[in-house]
Amino acid sequence: MSARLDAVRKLLALHDLDAILVWNLTNVRYLSGFTGSEGALVITADKALFLSDSRYATQAAEQLKGFTPVIESQKMPSAVKQLKAARAKRIGFEDGTMTVEDHARLLGKLENAQLIGLGSKLDAIRLCKDTGEIAVMRKAAQIAEAGLDAALRVLKPGISENDVAVELELTMRREGASATSFETIIASGPRGALPHGIASDKKIAEGELVVIDWGCVYQGYCSDQTVTVAVGEVGEEEKRVYEIVREAQAAALGGLKAGVALKDVDKIAREHIREAGYGDYFGHGLGHGVGREIHEAPRLSPTSDATAEPGMVVTVEPGIYLPGRFGVRIEDTVVITDQGFDRLTSVDKQFTRIG
Ligand code: ZN
Ligand code: ZN
Repeated sequence: MSARLDAVRKLLALHDLDAILVWNLTNVRYLSGFTGSEGALVITADKALFLSDSRYATQAAEQLKGFTPVIESQKMPSAVKQLKAARAKRIGFEDGTMTVEDHARLLGKLENAQLIGLGSKLDAIRLCKDTGEIAVMRKAAQIAEAGLDAALRVLKPGISENDVAVELELTMRREGASATSFETIIASGPRGALPHGIASDKKIAEGELVVIDWGCVYQGYCSDQTVTVAVGEVGEEEKRVYEIVREAQAAALGGLKAGVALKDVDKIAREHIREAGYGDYFGHGLGHGVGREIHEAPRLSPTSDATAEPGMVVTVEPGIYLPGRFGVRIEDTVVITDQGFDRLTSVDKQFTRIG
């Protein structure tokens, strides 16, 4: 935790700021250890304050690491009071999070102060995960995989996508997840061509491919993985497309290690799919960072300007989507290392037929 606070204080010095106001709850949790649903931080060179109301006084006292709790009824006047007390003139804030309304209220109350948008500078502190975070994320992936095992046991012709999702989600909760990390995607047959086909009441039929993209939240961290499985005998093109996506993913993973440009990793998968003749059917980026948020920096896409660093946790998830017919996506979540990557998700991605 103190390393995280040090990183924020480096930003203070680097950008000549008197204070940083942390409004985004994800960053509040990351920096202070507080897991409740209302709070903000005021960080100066010599103070680290956590602002919340009386509902969270006990929890704050138990959870905060390196922060002093300031309990007042409303966090905005409380923030103003603390920033004034610190005589802060140049105040960094999260322009990606704070509402226009809060920004105006803050400016109105702080005479002669400047609010300076931090862009992604604060989020960037979360980019590389430490060993504790990686251990939690590995556990999150394991819990999610217990959910998949349960889902695959009930997956058969005639069951609805929703019923498979319920089985999956219930198992993850039983295994210790606090929530799903996003709405579970179970997309069968033609619905598989929808890259975001959340589970519906459609019944799964013999001979269909089923795309399952799911994850859970465990101790505040998200998991993310996708498998595509065949229910019974599927057509030749389905099998061919599956192999193309599998090879594209393996090739991209083979090119992933610290120091490479993430757009080049995207390109490896994209070229593979294009050369196989399906270039028009892979419309999304290859992957994204995962952590406290299901989608966070860095991006793996043709326009990404990020470079792979050890400790970044990213997904690699190429797909081919043939509208009205079927789709295939294969996704793993991995930690980038100096030599390559370390897989957090562990489901085998060989073509799998159920029934
Ligand atoms: Zn996913
Ligand atoms: Zn993903």
